[in-house]
Amino acid sequence: MLSRRHAIALAVLLPSIARAATPPKVVASFSILGDLVREIGRGRVEPMVLVGPDQDAHTYQPKPSDLRAVASADLLVTNGLGFEGWMDRMADAAGFKGTRVVASAGITPIKTEDGGIDPHAFQNVRHVMRYVGNLRDGLLAADPAGKDIYQRQAGSYLDRLGKLDSDIRAAWAPIPRNQRRIMTSHDALSYYGAEYGVTFLAPQGLSTESEPSAKELRGLIAQIRAQQVRALFIENISNGAILRQIEREAGAKIGGTLFSDALSASGGPAATYLDLMRHNTAAMVAAAK
Ligand SMILES: [Zn+2]
Repeated sequence: MLSRRHAIALAVLLPSIARAATPPKVVASFSILGDLVREIGRGRVEPMVLVGPDQDAHTYQPKPSDLRAVASADLLVTNGLGFEGWMDRMADAAGFKGTRVVASAGITPIKTEDGGIDPHAFQNVRHVMRYVGNLRDGLLAADPAGKDIYQRQAGSYLDRLGKLDSDIRAAWAPIPRNQRRIMTSHDALSYYGAEYGVTFLAPQGLSTESEPSAKELRGLIAQIRAQQVRALFIENISNGAILRQIEREAGAKIGGTLFSDALSASGGPAATYLDLMRHNTAAMVAAAK
């Protein structure tokens, strides 16, 4: 017969075993993180994504269904570095009781001229390899029963990211450094530029919420001429009106669309993180040639 103490121990143990066997409900803040979680957790977890393809995380407004998803989530996956400025308020409003996983944990952020932090670390593939390690560890801790799946899939995805990283370097290698000058509408590509040796200019700064003044625009146009910027790129998350004005006034060409803070819809040219980085790199290299 079980002693009373054993009975209590069993009663405490059983629900946690039952929980561990059920895959966690995962909510990811934006489309790129959703894709990373899907790669690591395929067949075990299917993340719900708050800011979807072609959507702008800087100006996101939560819907009631988003709050309900966060309220019932076990894991809430965010970029961190201030990318999701709305997240703390949203998690509080939803009464979120689960675990937060900050994908960028451990990354040394790029500082901005005014002392702030650039949140777009996912534009550097080596940083995303760190993201994948953090996400794998977060999933493992929440769901030990899925350990083998997470470890195996994270491992093979890390191999593909390593290949992507070296392919990006190889793509830029033939382009002289002083030709690698690109303008985008908002300043999302500093991490890409620092890692792969490309100089970016952006009229809108770090967030799509800011608009350049007339004086700032004149300064940019002068810079484009002086620094021989090779191409302007519209982003999938912004309307491009400012860049079209600059194109007219500075005589530089719009070289296409870059996917900066969001994937494309499925079937588009950047429906996964791997495709996003390959598309952006090919478009910029072609324009810089
Ligand atoms: Zn951004």
